[in-house]
Amino acid sequence: MRLRNIPRAEGTLQAHNIVIKRPEDQKGCWRQVFGNKQPVHIEIGTGKGRFILNKAKANPDINFVGIERYSSVLLRAVEKYDTDEFKDLQNVRFICIDARRIEEVFAKDEVERIYLNFSDPWPKARHAKRRLTSVEFLERYEKVLKPYGKLEFKTDNTELFKFSLEQIKEAGWTLQNFTYDLHHNEEMNQGNIMTEYEEKFSSKGNPINKLIAVRK
Ligand code: SAM
Repeated sequence: MRLRNIPRAEGTLQAHNIVIKRPEDQKGCWRQVFGNKQPVHIEIGTGKGRFILNKAKANPDINFVGIERYSSVLLRAVEKYDTDEFKDLQNVRFICIDARRIEEVFAKDEVERIYLNFSDPWPKARHAKRRLTSVEFLERYEKVLKPYGKLEFKTDNTELFKFSLEQIKEAGWTLQNFTYDLHHNEEMNQGNIMTEYEEKFSSKGNPINKLIAVRK
């Protein structure tokens, strides 16, 4: 994502009650954050928030946490939350951290599902460990995701997708389902919520890949 530094971003996020300011203080306490015992789903690399806000709206019985590492990007998600369409949602929060720190923020088994949408590809081989579907990240997810919890990943980048399929296998996770053309796969596309990147790339005719993997 092209990044423009927005000076007011930090202050706006700090002042907004939808943003959890010291998320490490909530480790093991996310039920209290939401005030109920609903399952917690997280999206890593939330970007401008379209996916998670629509997901939260469509699923009031699930709590959603959007994770984005850049305040200038998360600002856009928070501004979207503030619109009439989303401002009454009770089941969504945002945190501004690098997902490498995920174990500092969520306790063992605290997360039921992880969404990764159009994650940065890090095309150079020496950067492979930075990819959010690398074995290194899957090991981090295992520390917070319930056994048999799921990871859902969408991307238009077929190289990254093939890499991810291999990493899922290498990590010992189970591949539940996958497609190289989500929008023409009736079963997997059912209830699909488009992200900003998904809209952009599919409108150019790029097929969208999706996999669903289950934690060992
Ligand atoms: N998910 C959105 C979509 O599909 O429209 C945005 C996709 S954008 C290519 C990837 C986003 O993931 C960027 O906003 C980036 O800052 C964020 N991101 C990448 N690596 C991250 C990490 N390690 N922790 C948190 N956010 C990350």
